[in-house]
Amino acid sequence: MQCDACRREAVIYQPYSGKHLCPAHFLRDFEAKAKHTIRSNGWLHPGDHIAVALSGNAAGAALLVFLKDLTANRRDIRLSAITIDTGISSCPDLMQAQKTAAACGVEWFPCSFAERYGTTMDALVQRDGPQAARCACRVLRDDLLGEIARAHGVTRCAFATTVDDSAGKFFSDLLSGTVERTLFPPGMMGKTRIPGIRPFMDIPEPEVILYAGLRSGETISCNTLPPGPCAGSVSVDADVRAALDTYARRHPATKFALANLAGTLAGIAAARGPPLSCPACGEPAVGGECEACHIRRTVERGTES
Ligand SMILES: [Zn+2]
Ligand SMILES: [Zn+2]
Repeated sequence: MQCDACRREAVIYQPYSGKHLCPAHFLRDFEAKAKHTIRSNGWLHPGDHIAVALSGNAAGAALLVFLKDLTANRRDIRLSAITIDTGISSCPDLMQAQKTAAACGVEWFPCSFAERYGTTMDALVQRDGPQAARCACRVLRDDLLGEIARAHGVTRCAFATTVDDSAGKFFSDLLSGTVERTLFPPGMMGKTRIPGIRPFMDIPEPEVILYAGLRSGETISCNTLPPGPCAGSVSVDADVRAALDTYARRHPATKFALANLAGTLAGIAAARGPPLSCPACGEPAVGGECEACHIRRTVERGTES
């Protein structure tokens, strides 16, 4: 199939736009979308120090490469990467994250659950089961990321969240009746309240993977690691994700619609103000202690700082 913008061979078909694109036109389209997201959200300011949450998978590498290019001529903006080793035996190779950061020429700050909390995801899964461990992982990882970020003067943490991640999370929240997390999403990193940015949030996951693949010959080696069990859409149960994927294959606009609806609902909820806030951390909570603080309290040493 030929590219709709030139005569070269297409590498991707975008069902939502009806376009076939060659590598050059795909890269242009991809980067224009991510830049638009950053601009329209006001996510880049003079003096910023942006740290990419780099887990070692393809999406994180794609985000680091993209931001490296975007800030190449901006002496007023500093870029670095933070990697949290959550302690999952099935994806131990954090060397990949270190290599990616080195290839991009940015500082790399690693830390681990074992070092900070004296526990690992493997141990939490064994103790509390996979679902509770995933919730705990998200809270503990954001707290730790925020701590590392604050220690290095980071002003924003960047995440490689995709449309698939947002849609999967919302769909899962709907099915489990935990929509309060959609209505009042914590926009800040853990207790340090450093803002998070998501430049790929309007881009489907397969395009982020393709971007990483196309750019890998240039700057990064992308022997893609499986994402950790609490990274992005993987925090959603496998069967929920499979159901959504099956439906979305026949209805390509579905994930965009879900992701947009989640954003719209959060906007409406924010405008009305949260019903109550957590007495311990101040984040919106439906009543009393928020879920994050409950997790912090139950994980030994998790509330020390
Ligand atoms: Zn083309
Ligand atoms: Zn709280």
